[in-house]
Amino acid sequence: MELVVLGLGSNMPLVRHNDKALQPEEILGRACEALSGVLKNFRCSSVYKTKPRYVENQDDFYNMVAAGEWEGTPRELLRAVQKIENWFGRDRESVGPKGPRTLDIDIELFGNQIIREEDAVNPLYVPHPLMNERQFVLIPLLEILPDFADPITRQPFSKILSTLSDQGVELWKHCKNLTTANRTQ
Ligand code: AMP
Repeated sequence: MELVVLGLGSNMPLVRHNDKALQPEEILGRACEALSGVLKNFRCSSVYKTKPRYVENQDDFYNMVAAGEWEGTPRELLRAVQKIENWFGRDRESVGPKGPRTLDIDIELFGNQIIREEDAVNPLYVPHPLMNERQFVLIPLLEILPDFADPITRQPFSKILSTLSDQGVELWKHCKNLTTANRTQ
């Protein structure tokens, strides 16, 4: 069993036939409910509203971090999170990388393991290679895991965060408003 940390993001409503559209904050709440079914001792951060990075002409993102214990392998976890992304309308075919998405779930940490799995379709790199440059990951991560350190460099994430300049990440909704997803199993 490993303690895993996931980064969630959404900046596009999910429109389903005959249903009211699900807004990004609602998608994150529902994704947490789904994740609480597959991770033990599930917990999640507040939601943050974040200026888009990399591709800037798109709507602001809603981001959060979730953590819990996972019984399977890293690859099984990747499959499980991609299944949840797909339930929430993730469409990799028609939208380019780093573009608008209904739901993105990244594996930020898998215990202290350092994973480099090459694969033509689904490579897996953990810790997530971009996590240390992303305030939208480090700020919510430190909210729920304040003492965690980078497994590669052993530097505390709090120290790494203190070196980053402002990226436009603001608190949107406190964690207590997502408590339906915060149940312990
Ligand atoms: P994205 O379209 O941004 O969700 O990226 C998904 C792709 O990134 C998939 O092909 C994954 O195999 C790959 N990937 C590599 N490392 C990770 C990771 N730590 N978490 C999630 N996806 C990853």
